[in-house]
Amino acid sequence: MSYNFIYFDLDDTLLDHKAAEASGLRDVHQHFSMFDGSDTQTLIDTYHDVNSEQWRLYSQGDVTREQLQQNRFEQTLQRMDLDASLFKEVGDYYMQCYRDHWQWINGAEKAYQQVVQYYPVGMLTNGFAETQRLKFKKFNFYDSADHVVISEDVGVLKPDPKVFAHATELAGFAPDDILYVGDSLTSDIEGGSRFGWNTAWFTSNGDHPKDHKADLVFNDFEELIKFLGI
Ligand SMILES: [Mg+2]
Repeated sequence: MSYNFIYFDLDDTLLDHKAAEASGLRDVHQHFSMFDGSDTQTLIDTYHDVNSEQWRLYSQGDVTREQLQQNRFEQTLQRMDLDASLFKEVGDYYMQCYRDHWQWINGAEKAYQQVVQYYPVGMLTNGFAETQRLKFKKFNFYDSADHVVISEDVGVLKPDPKVFAHATELAGFAPDDILYVGDSLTSDIEGGSRFGWNTAWFTSNGDHPKDHKADLVFNDFEELIKFLGI
């Protein structure tokens, strides 16, 4: 397949956000004695539920990012019957640890380096702007990518069409010249294809009838390389 521009999602597409999140929470669990009576997996599962819900509310504009940052740890601690007033200490320590665990998804680095030899590429990510900027820096995306777009800077989150409109304008191509590689069905695949982009869905849970929304469904980056014919 041939495209003129390829955008990548960052978290859980190129970088293993989920693993970094779990490792960061393991560090948190070990660091604060209040977690002594609970197991690590309970913290990981509880945080995951609370955080997903908070991001959903944030993307709808129902909570601010400051509320999200507070709520996700305050509510996690509440649900675990722990001292929720420590949400700030726990949250700050978590962010510090989370950053130490960033790494590529298996096979993604090699594929990405190959793609940038053949295509102009960009990053298009949700997430907190200053955190995502640190990732761009650490993984050299400012040098290797032609454009980086953080939806928070645009003012709305994916799948809002405004984010895709902004990224399309930056790329300087028509929507159907662009391929978006991402892991989220709603934010990336549905959001991108609604705007007229082609999409490649990185997932191990692809199934009918969701599959037809993406031009490629893959769970191994070598499949993406094969699909692009490079
Ligand atoms: Mg993602």
